[in-house]
Amino acid sequence: MRIALVAHDRKKDDMVALATEFAPLLRQHTLMATGTTGGRLQNEVGLTVERLLSGPLGGDLQIGARLSVGEIDAVIFLRDPMTAQPHEPDINALVRACDVHNVPCATNVATARVLLGGMLR
Ligand code: PGA
Repeated sequence: MRIALVAHDRKKDDMVALATEFAPLLRQHTLMATGTTGGRLQNEVGLTVERLLSGPLGGDLQIGARLSVGEIDAVIFLRDPMTAQPHEPDINALVRACDVHNVPCATNVATARVLLGGMLR
């Protein structure tokens, strides 16, 4: 499967912890991520990740565009609900694209665990 990973700044530690826990599973799939998230997953977890643009520079839109043409099968998008983001329209566009195209999108750690756990089974 092709999995996209995005984490807002205050959620990046959670993403690294989640990816570390599920690293054996994630290594079996094709991964892409927004720029800073992807860098941390490469450097701290040792995953092979295609790094797209940083979220505020259009990375969310790149992911939305790819999943809209069937190139992404699941999204783990750890959003920070407590901090205003400059690229809020892009965030909404990505989540909307997931809903339009029926692509699973986990927006918090609990849901991401369910999604990844389901893939393990
Ligand atoms: P980043 O982008 O991984 O480049 O930080 C994520 C975001 O903030 O939307």
